[in-house]
Amino acid sequence: MTFDVIIIGGGASGLFCAINAGQRERNVLVLESSNKLGKKILMSGGGRCNFTNLNIEPEYYISANPHFCKSALSRYTQWDFIKLVENHGIAFEERKHGQLFCKGSAKEILAMLRDECDKANVKIHTHCEVTSITALEHSIEYQYILNTSLGKMRTNSLVIASGGLSIPKMGASNFSYKIAKQFKIPVLSTYAGLVPFTFSDSFKDVAERLSGVSQEVILSTPNKQFKESILFTHRGLSGPAALQLSSYWNHGESIQINLLPNEDIESLLINAKLHSPKVLLRNFLSQYLAKKLVIVLQELFWPDEDYQLMTDFSNKRLKSIAAKLYAWEVKPSGTEGYRTAEVTMGGIDTDYLSSQTMETKNQPGLYFVGEAVDVTGHLGGYNFQWAWSSGYVAGLIV
Ligand SMILES: Cc1cc2nc3c(=O)[nH]c(=O)nc-3n(C[C@H](O)[C@H](O)[C@H](O)COP(=O)(O)OP(=O)(O)OC[C@H]3O[C@@H](n4cnc5c(N)ncnc54)[C@H](O)[C@@H]3O)c2cc1C
Repeated sequence: MTFDVIIIGGGASGLFCAINAGQRERNVLVLESSNKLGKKILMSGGGRCNFTNLNIEPEYYISANPHFCKSALSRYTQWDFIKLVENHGIAFEERKHGQLFCKGSAKEILAMLRDECDKANVKIHTHCEVTSITALEHSIEYQYILNTSLGKMRTNSLVIASGGLSIPKMGASNFSYKIAKQFKIPVLSTYAGLVPFTFSDSFKDVAERLSGVSQEVILSTPNKQFKESILFTHRGLSGPAALQLSSYWNHGESIQINLLPNEDIESLLINAKLHSPKVLLRNFLSQYLAKKLVIVLQELFWPDEDYQLMTDFSNKRLKSIAAKLYAWEVKPSGTEGYRTAEVTMGGIDTDYLSSQTMETKNQPGLYFVGEAVDVTGHLGGYNFQWAWSSGYVAGLIV
């Protein structure tokens, strides 16, 4: 029960760290508390795992220290992971914004990681609970003693790869933060990211009525905007634009929806008055927006002019309607939270970690990798790339 390296968490970052440490002929054990490895890999990308992105750049990561992710991402890049996927004969495809997905199934990515673990002689135990960790300082090195449901274990290097709080049903736990606190490593406050918005005001009914309607928009807070699609749902707003913006949204803030991001809306309406004078505004807008959505917009923004022809609108009135379509302001009451969030924002304070190795600065031999750390990517394969890259750099040194 003595190992060179014990990794707690058998998800993306833990398995990748294990592979790279095992390839260095370290004696590696992965401890996973749930019944299965890599559950999030399996359900990611709608079952096709968006495993990386062609455009990995630090600007697509959110962290209190925006420079922290640079080292790991440059030492193990998307091209390195793509090469590995190709070597395993896994077919993949590029979707929009450089997102790479398996053509077949996410199972292939997990099978690849398991295969690499086997080749590197990594030992794996699922169903294993770690109940306590103690650090012993010897004259030259630290050792960690773990009390687990499988007995007492000993290791020189301990890697915490147990992820964040998103989706407790899939095994998420606060284990990484508990261990950080035990070793006096600060944890920056956590909140759900890449998560749908919820509403408690009149917009809740609007969203419910429009449930299933998707529309390309620019969605913005005062500090950030995304041009992508939104999806109205029974609970509020989802879709890529809403998920992306949720990672930047502060509680209490309103968000604005530009419903015609590719048009100068004011000129569009004034031109429509000249060129389609006998048309109803709702019929004109139905060329650009889902019909169901236009009916709702009419009720909200021009309820008394529902049968008025374009020619009978004053330019001033069209400008005021254009302003609403350009910046429909809605105020989320919250988000769906960790129950459905793809990621956890915040986490282990990167000031206390080496960006080169992910080792803690105050506790030799203790490492944090993956989502547990205060580095969160945008939607689109960025989070898995962080898991691979951070796991890799730790795996080279543990
Ligand atoms: C529904 C969904 C879809 C996603 N799709 C994508 C996508 O397509 N592309 C992308 O880039 N990202 C995606 N993500 C995000 C991505 O899954 C995570 O960023 C990534 O899995 C983080 O890897 P990790 O190894 O740090 O954590 P995890 O993958 O969460 O792994 C942590 C592991 O530790 C285990 N564990 C927890 N507590 C303990 C404990 N006390 N003891 C032992 N083990 C423990 C967990 O069971 C889990 O196996 C998605 C997330 C979700 C929820």
